[in-house]
Amino acid sequence: MNNEDTLRWLSRIAEVLHEKAQYLTQLDSPIGDADHGTNMDRGFVAVRNKFPTMTTMDMAAQFKTVGSTLVSTVGGSSGPLYGTAFLRAGTAVTGKTDLNAADVVAMLDAFAGGVTARGKAQTGEKTMVDALAPAVAAAQEALANGADVAEVTARAAMAAEEGTKATIPMLATKGRASYLGERSIGHQDPGATSSLLILQMLAEVCAKSA
Ligand code: ADP
Ligand code: MG
Repeated sequence: MNNEDTLRWLSRIAEVLHEKAQYLTQLDSPIGDADHGTNMDRGFVAVRNKFPTMTTMDMAAQFKTVGSTLVSTVGGSSGPLYGTAFLRAGTAVTGKTDLNAADVVAMLDAFAGGVTARGKAQTGEKTMVDALAPAVAAAQEALANGADVAEVTARAAMAAEEGTKATIPMLATKGRASYLGERSIGHQDPGATSSLLILQMLAEVCAKSA
């Protein structure tokens, strides 16, 4: 995975978040304030506007640009959470020009670690962590079994999908959804869903470049 693949990934994230903005906002309406889709779309439109300057950057600088752009353009909790995730992913790939499977897993671990460092949520609290933590665990397991970049990212996306579905019966104890208490049960978490989309786009890009 090189710095063209990372731009392809970011570009696909921007596209899918734009396509699914209404869906993500609908998910955020029963258990939030109906803005997750618009928040994410606004952030990645701003990221996309920086693509011309990002083509000559190394991956670490690309990810850090994404992180700082999300922090400064996305209102709501998802801005600082994903912002920190991309900033940490940037730190994890410092000096790298071509990520192997172990590097990709380390990058994903740092990404998820950024969300938990910032938001202090654990799995089971109905947040993006419920997609990201199982994804990292699955990627680590695949890596230990000798998987390549395409396989580790595919495993991560599959685990994120299960993790996202598993948020439906959960009681939210972090973020805005936690204000609803028991009424948060029965709805899929919007942030877990955007994390799933981000990981699905990574798997898609890595499947193509493999
Ligand atoms: P806001 O809740 O401020 O309106 P968004 O709607 O953009 O922000 O994002 C909501 C999502 O943020 C939730 O669905 C949840 O996944 C995620 N989230 C909220 N708080 C946390 C946290 N402490 N840790 C991880 N994710 C969180
Ligand atoms: Mg919201």
